[in-house]
Parts: sequence; structure tokens; C-alpha cells
Amino acid sequence: MSFIENIEKLEQVYLLGKESSELEALSLQLGEPAYRGRQLYHWLYTRRATDFDSMTDLARSLREQLSEIASISPVEVLTDESAEDGSYKLLFGLPDGMRVEGVMIPDGERLTVCLSSQVGCVIGCGFCATGQIGFRRNLSTAEIVGQFTALYRTVDTRITNVVMMGMGEPLLNSAEVFKAARLITDPDGLAISRRRFSISTIGWVPGIQAMQKSGLRLKLTVSLNGTTDEQRKQLMPLSSKYSLASILKAASDYAGSSKQRVTFTYLLLKGINDSLTDARRLVKLVRQIPCKINLMEYNEIGDQFQRSSIEQTEQFQETVRSAGLTVILRASRGRDIAAACGQLAGGYQPGTGSTIP
Ligand code: SF4
Repeated sequence: MSFIENIEKLEQVYLLGKESSELEALSLQLGEPAYRGRQLYHWLYTRRATDFDSMTDLARSLREQLSEIASISPVEVLTDESAEDGSYKLLFGLPDGMRVEGVMIPDGERLTVCLSSQVGCVIGCGFCATGQIGFRRNLSTAEIVGQFTALYRTVDTRITNVVMMGMGEPLLNSAEVFKAARLITDPDGLAISRRRFSISTIGWVPGIQAMQKSGLRLKLTVSLNGTTDEQRKQLMPLSSKYSLASILKAASDYAGSSKQRVTFTYLLLKGINDSLTDARRLVKLVRQIPCKINLMEYNEIGDQFQRSSIEQTEQFQETVRSAGLTVILRASRGRDIAAACGQLAGGYQPGTGSTIP
């Protein structure tokens, strides 16, 4: 549907999330030359403009026309919270009143943003606050890119890394997520390196295959969190749709075609998946795949699970490391403001969304 048709239907048009070719088409529809669309692209992404007035090389008449028919971003910052460790979290309001969260994590030279892909999530992982809400809806490309530019406005240095690890399972919203990734990694625009743009999935096999087909060569992170299908089913109910064997095959194929290591994350839960038998099984599962393993500490969201002890975590890590694999214990960031992995809830109460994708 063209912009003009959207306008005739009185649908709000957001320019963030549009590719250069779409903005060129908009220019033509407004009776302007196509190159005006490319100028607009430059203002939106390279300059990250937040209003039409600042786009000074566009004619005033065009700027007025644009401000009548379109807005730049659908994302509004509702609140921001800073954690003791320097990370912080923004709560975003969306045009229909829904909310999602995004997190900024400074770490030395690295500045990582964690973006959401859905309001709520259908997978229902028991250790995750988003999973307790249920599913509301997918985010649009504009809403994903809008989180990124809103987070960017809070810093005066470059964002270096993006992880799609906020609310939602990104590969259940792959078309919008891939388009957002294309825009965020465009060297002529927002210019994040594709090797620093990571999509994190619980192992949604068709999504991993689609990611491979897209040719984007983004980083793939797979949350394993268990070393048997039974364990995974217990922890991440809907993820059991795909067996561990099929997930590992898809991850291995992805590593082969993208020529980069896959990251496997493994959340350690006391007495559930943190035994040394699990550690040895984990080694067996992934040792043939070019990969690294990130061990994650559990951030409590209730009393169903407990964090593994320091001793158990160290023994688990040592067992994996001594088998020759790269394994890192990721420090938990932003726990005091519920911004750490598994804690994002956007202010929603558990069980208020749907359980059907
Ligand atoms: S961990 Fe990810 S996939 Fe699981 S419920 Fe949370 S957001 Fe969804």
C-alpha cells in the first residue's frame, strides 16, 4: 500500500523503518524528484533527525507536506531508569498504548543496546518475565528502529552493538526484525556492523533457516538452557516444537554459511540444568559446531527457580572449558532496575496476554 493510500485511509505513516527506495517512492508521490527521498533517508538514519524542521536542505514546502502526512517515529519514551552498574532501561509507549522496554549496556569501549521484537511473548519460558505476560503483538519495523534511535538519543558516543534479546522471540517476527536489521546495519545509515548485530532465539528452526536465507550474515545466538529435550520442554514450553537435534543442525548450517561462530547461551538454574553431567552433555552437543558458550546467571523473577551457587557455576564452566570450548560467564547487568536478562516486563502483569502466536 502506498503512503498516499495510507493517508487516504487515515492511517498514521511513520518514516522510520522505511528503506531508501520507499522514501524515493514517497517523494515521487509528493511530486518531488526521487533524490529527495534519499536526502530524507540521510536525515532519518545518518543524522537521526527527530523533526522535519531540522531537515534544512529540503524545501520548506516539502517539510510542511511531510509533517502533515507523516511522523518520524512511533516510539515515545515514557520512563527511564538507571542501574548502579551504569546500564539503563527505557520504557517505550507505542501508538496503540502498548509498551515495550529497551536497555543500554555500557561496557568499556563497547556500548550495547538490547531491543524488543514483540509485546509479550508466546514461548512462555518459566524463567522470563516477558514469557509470563503472554503474547500481545509483533512490533513493526518502525517500532524496532524507533527503540534504537530513542536509545541513541541518550548518549553522545557511538552505539557499537545491538542484541535482539529484549521482549519477545525475534524469529517469530522475522520479516520486521530482518528489515530493521537491514536498516540498522546499513553503512549509509545507522551503520552498525552486521557482525555486531545479534539475533537471539530459543531455537526457532524455520527462523534460523530464514535468517540464513536472508543473506544478512547477522550474529546468531541460540539459548540452549538445557541439554535434553525434556529439560528444554520444562523450561521453555513452546520451544519443544523443535528437537535439540534439529536446532543444533540449523545452528551448525548457519555457522557454515555465515562463516562465523554461533553463540550458545546457557542459563544456569540450581538443581535443574547445572549438574556436571549437564556440562559434559553440553560439550558433546556443541563441540562439532564453531561456537562459543555464554553461561548466564539467573535473575530471579519469582520463586520457581533459583540461581546456581558460585561453586557449581565455576565447576560447570571449568568442565566445559577443559573440554577445549570457549566459555564465558556473562556478568548480569541492570538487575536492580529489572533490566537484566529475563526481567523485562514492560509493566505488564503475568498472564494478561494470549498464549496463541
Ligand atoms: S526468554 Fe525469550 S523466548 Fe522465552 S519467554 Fe522470554 S522473551 Fe520469550
